Amino acid sequence: MKVAKRIEELPPYLFAEIDRRIEEKRSQGVDVINFGVGDPDLPTPPHIVETLCREAERPENHRYPSYRGMARFRRAAAEWFARRFGVELDAESEVLALIGSKEGIAHLPMALLDPGDVALVPDPAYPVYRTSVIFCGGTPVLMPLVEEEGFLPRLRDIPDEVWHRAEMIFLNYPNNPTAAVAGRDFLEELAHYARKHQVVIAHDLAYSEITYDGYVAPSLLEIPGAKEIAVEFHSLSKTYNMTGWRVGFAVGGRELISAFAAVKENIDSGVFNAVQLAAVSALEGPQDCVERNREVYRRRRDMLVEGLRSIGWRVEPPVATLYLWMKVPEGYDSSAFAGELLEKAEVVVAPGSAYGERGEGYVRFSLTIPDQRIREGVERMKRAFS
Ligand SMILES: *Cc1c(COP(=O)(O)O)cnc(C)c1O
Repeated sequence: MKVAKRIEELPPYLFAEIDRRIEEKRSQGVDVINFGVGDPDLPTPPHIVETLCREAERPENHRYPSYRGMARFRRAAAEWFARRFGVELDAESEVLALIGSKEGIAHLPMALLDPGDVALVPDPAYPVYRTSVIFCGGTPVLMPLVEEEGFLPRLRDIPDEVWHRAEMIFLNYPNNPTAAVAGRDFLEELAHYARKHQVVIAHDLAYSEITYDGYVAPSLLEIPGAKEIAVEFHSLSKTYNMTGWRVGFAVGGRELISAFAAVKENIDSGVFNAVQLAAVSALEGPQDCVERNREVYRRRRDMLVEGLRSIGWRVEPPVATLYLWMKVPEGYDSSAFAGELLEKAEVVVAPGSAYGERGEGYVRFSLTIPDQRIREGVERMKRAFS
């Protein structure tokens, strides 16, 4: 028996070692505080759950869903998009339902890349961009995201020859793991390069609603002319605490969405109708639950920033996402520091190196644990490190 090269060539899964150590600690009865995963701890708002329960009982929802998503769901997504970003979309041809945005991100390259084709991928990044390119035989070319540049890639430093060979570029602002945001000027520059070199932009906007201090995240599709060369990924996971539900959607130019749908029609059979209808409730219902979420995360962000600073660590409060991206103290690398936090403070963080080589030297703290646990985690780190 052999396994395919695409499996053998996967970048190492650096969380595996951490997971093993957490398990070991927990089996010894240690109460580990986990700042490592970005999975909202708060429940899905009740009106959304109620819609699911009601719709799950209706036999007409028990059959295969339509491939592109229910017309009702796509209309709700298009209307939400218009309200939120001021951009009109044709629900029929420019919106596609996804089984969570991760599923869509993983499958889009199959619609765009032939074996050997180049895709530009940020480093550090959500690991799916790179692996999805590898899975369809493409070649990822990494774009470093460095602190001095606000964790934005320097598009003008990418050689013309690379732009010319590239078929697609992945980006994600507000960004996981760095918590950086991109302004309209950056999006305009991006659209300019992409149009000039005929490169499709895959923009992951999973954190569009997780913002603070008055910051409002733009959509790439707000840039005139960007739609035709872009696919943008939207997710209900973080906005409505729905990570377990597996529902999101992609928007973009008609031709791109059509090629993307052709891939999905041959792989999956869509999202459970009752889940799509619950998602309609989320998108069309009262949005005060989103505001409350923001308020909870903002409070936690401030609490954790203050706590980490009181230990003497340098960290900036981000204006978006669920994460603090912190440089590790002098003398450590990412995984040594993460290991030390686990050993000495029984606190788990994600080592930056798990998100790519350029993530080395950082760790990521997630804000998806209760306030009391954050306080306790800070106390433990303080005791261990000061
Ligand atoms: C959480 C997250 C997603 C959302 O994934 P779903 O599959 O929609 O749950 C997408 N991209 C990034 C960068 C994320 O952190």
